[in-house]
Amino acid sequence: MVPAEVKREIDKCARCGKCRSVCPVFIETGDETRVARGRITLAEAIFQGEIFYSKELRDYIYSCKKCLRCQATCPSGVDFGLIVDALLEGIGKNMGIPLMAKFVLRYLLPRRRLFDLAIRVASWSQRLIPGQRKGNLRHLPLFFMGRRWVPHLTQRTALDRFSETRKLSSPRMRVGFFVGCLINYVYPNIAESLIDVLNKLNIEVVVPPSQVCCGIPARSLGDTTAARILAEKNREVFEAEKLDAIVTACSTCLLTIKREYLRLLGEPWRPMTEKMYDISVFLEKFTQYRPEPLDTTVTYHDPCHLKWGLNVTREPRTVLSRCARLKEMEYADRCCGGGGVFSIIYRDLSMKIGEHKINSVDKSGARIVATSCPGCVLQLADLAASKDLSVETLHVIELLSRTLNNGSKVPAVNELVQVSGSP
Ligand code: SF4
Ligand code: SF4
Repeated sequence: MVPAEVKREIDKCARCGKCRSVCPVFIETGDETRVARGRITLAEAIFQGEIFYSKELRDYIYSCKKCLRCQATCPSGVDFGLIVDALLEGIGKNMGIPLMAKFVLRYLLPRRRLFDLAIRVASWSQRLIPGQRKGNLRHLPLFFMGRRWVPHLTQRTALDRFSETRKLSSPRMRVGFFVGCLINYVYPNIAESLIDVLNKLNIEVVVPPSQVCCGIPARSLGDTTAARILAEKNREVFEAEKLDAIVTACSTCLLTIKREYLRLLGEPWRPMTEKMYDISVFLEKFTQYRPEPLDTTVTYHDPCHLKWGLNVTREPRTVLSRCARLKEMEYADRCCGGGGVFSIIYRDLSMKIGEHKINSVDKSGARIVATSCPGCVLQLADLAASKDLSVETLHVIELLSRTLNNGSKVPAVNELVQVSGSP
């Protein structure tokens, strides 16, 4: 039975095909079953019982990046995210979730200590598989497919390092920090920069140690039960604190929590979503700072979830223009091809999409490419390393922290390693 709100969105589609001109997957594949219009036609057929869930259908749906570019461009205002979520949920219910994925999503992810342990074991065992070394070597388990440059896993997670709140004598605000998995396990230096910047602006940062994954991998695999368990856990953890606001440095976590949690947890969650901010939006709304800019050039990449999902484009640029000379690249809002489950399953397609982006970065001539999402940082670093480009990839908040520290490099910048072969 198709939920009424999903049917309403399907009916809104005028089949105009405008989404074909912007969808990064369609642009590369030219395949009608891999664009919003085609997927909506499939959704209609499946919900009317004309076709059945199958491996092919799953492939058509999994190959959607959920970048929401089509939704932002659609003249009929179709909420494509809602339709694709209903399809993913249908796949999960009708075709089942692989046992291992279910175990990780429902049992390990909500228990942070256990998940930390599992990540460490996986990381150590994978160190035995040969890779071409470049700097320190540590494999990132999830990305161990195909060839790609990956940062090493951190020795100490961000949650371990920063969950003890640094007390300020009379802070002007008390802010919660939702860390997210990539920052926690791969880029704790982004967390360090964020806390450094906020503390310098006399804002106390609370990092609740029991917070868990935002649940996007569970949503992507259609496991609504797991997504709800994680959402409930995060609600409990953040509601227990008296916070003036909650910030995050991950666009995907932010979109998930602001949009999906409302769907999963309903209206009681709304007051929390209303005080959740992307870090650059928070800085522009609540603080004033004017650092001495660095003598370097930076270009900005718009993460899809921040631009198309949340309509945030101005604030990260304002932060950057206070840190260095901001040079716009061509097609700054073109998808980088990254994105958790998508870039793992569709590695080649992900790199093909990213090729355009890294060429734009190169053409801009900037020394640094900055962005607002750790997933994009990971993808851009991979693309730059694959092309041997000497451009530094940073999160916006890292560059701000560096600027406020008069150019000192943020600590623990991760090294990269090229991984070859499959598991
Ligand atoms: S742009 Fe919107 S209305 Fe047009 S085909 Fe795509 S989803 Fe349908
Ligand atoms: S969400 Fe992105 S990848 Fe999916 S159909 Fe829309 S534009 Fe294409």
